[in-house]
Amino acid sequence: MTGLAGQVIQVEATVREDKEQCVIIGLPDASIKESKERILNCLHALDQDIDMKKITIHLSPADVRKQGTSYDAAMLLAVLQAMAKQPVKIPEKTCFIAALTLSGQLTTFHSMIPTIHQAILLGFKRIYIPPIEISLFAQAADVELIRMPDMPSLLSHLQGKTSLFENELTLIPTEPILEETEKIPHVCFSVIRGHAEAKRALLLAAAGGHHVLMSGPPGCGKSLLANAFHTILPDLTHDEMLEVYSIYQLAKQARSLSERPPFRSPHHSSSEGAIVGGGRYPKPGEMSLAHRGVLFLDELGHFPRRVVDTLRQPLESGFAVVNRVEGSDRFPATINLIAATNPCPCGYYGSHEKYCVCGDKVRLKYMNKITGPIIDRVDFVLAMKNQSVLEQKTADTSEELRQTVTRARDRQRLRYGGNYTNAIAPVKLFEEKVEFSKNQLERIETVSNQEKLSSRSTLKILRLARTIADVLGDETVSDAAVEEALRWKISASQAHSALMR
Ligand SMILES: [Zn+2]
Repeated sequence: MTGLAGQVIQVEATVREDKEQCVIIGLPDASIKESKERILNCLHALDQDIDMKKITIHLSPADVRKQGTSYDAAMLLAVLQAMAKQPVKIPEKTCFIAALTLSGQLTTFHSMIPTIHQAILLGFKRIYIPPIEISLFAQAADVELIRMPDMPSLLSHLQGKTSLFENELTLIPTEPILEETEKIPHVCFSVIRGHAEAKRALLLAAAGGHHVLMSGPPGCGKSLLANAFHTILPDLTHDEMLEVYSIYQLAKQARSLSERPPFRSPHHSSSEGAIVGGGRYPKPGEMSLAHRGVLFLDELGHFPRRVVDTLRQPLESGFAVVNRVEGSDRFPATINLIAATNPCPCGYYGSHEKYCVCGDKVRLKYMNKITGPIIDRVDFVLAMKNQSVLEQKTADTSEELRQTVTRARDRQRLRYGGNYTNAIAPVKLFEEKVEFSKNQLERIETVSNQEKLSSRSTLKILRLARTIADVLGDETVSDAAVEEALRWKISASQAHSALMR
């Protein structure tokens, strides 16, 4: 696998008379070189004569770095085929995914579930695996997952002799599916007083995959709203659940097979690598752990500028790219960013309750660090205030809002195909599928010129208008939807300049 994406590795082997030796070539790392010992032991256990034989195993493509024990069974099979007088015929679209014990039993390895999932996505139709629980893949149509306890059984199955019945299998456990230690607090929208504007913004953000920056004094309800936001996101589909679970497996992080989207809120002391991903064997970072869910960055102003900068590219593309010496890995990172910040280091700039003690210079540096890199990536900038206890609660429950969001997302799925939202649908696809009237486009252009908006911001207005129409269930984008999108963009740019004043 490179990043989360699977890659087909072909295994070949030759055996010839020479000094007894076993070599594996094709950019194997130390973990694969260890496979050599297991393969030699298995050959002994299978009574194969390897005296004075040189075994060469080649993994291709040769320029892709390979690691782990997942190729063990395929390598042993290739050697047995090379030694056999009559090698068995391996059908098309067949692959072998298993590690080996010293005696030739097929066994599991780290990230086994993600690997099988990727093999299915790559179009393999017969996948030989160790005897593990496979109900997870019950929905994969036209794919045969063939569970085999050991190499002799696997060979005889390939020869068409079914010596084994599925129900004779003793299942071996895969890695335990761990329960998250941190529970996400469930905050229903209907218990939050006031904040009518923020609630509308969060509904639209959830519906179209847009990003939000909340600015306001401590205790005004930013974290509460972020938690409530999570409750209105739709459940993950089965495939999405497997995809998210796979990312956690690669990152060696706990996650249950849950239908609820992830909610990540990394601390501001987190490193760049922890946020985007990294390491010698690159692991996904927080951006990817939040894939199909929420990345909540509280106290955005305290994150190092470098870290905030790294958010820009994934926010637009839906991918986090981790660079390393031999190339780069891409991890999925389709997220809703909910960022929160105080308006200044002391937190009270613009507040009526307390006097801000920060100098202008300090405050501007603080805001510039946050807004500079991401201001044109977020659709909503909310300047929030503490709400009076007299403020009304709203009637909408999270459950009702979630249904609205789910319907809006379904419309987007139908429109774009795949998992695109209005926020990240590629420009060409968006322009192909979404229509605006001439008047609407002229109106948007006029306002963009007045407000000196960038072309990126103008495109964001179109995307947001489409989301507003999707929330209403409208086939075409109404003038009212365009006006609301314009209002949000203007208020975002005004909130930004007010903070920078
Ligand atoms: Zn201040």
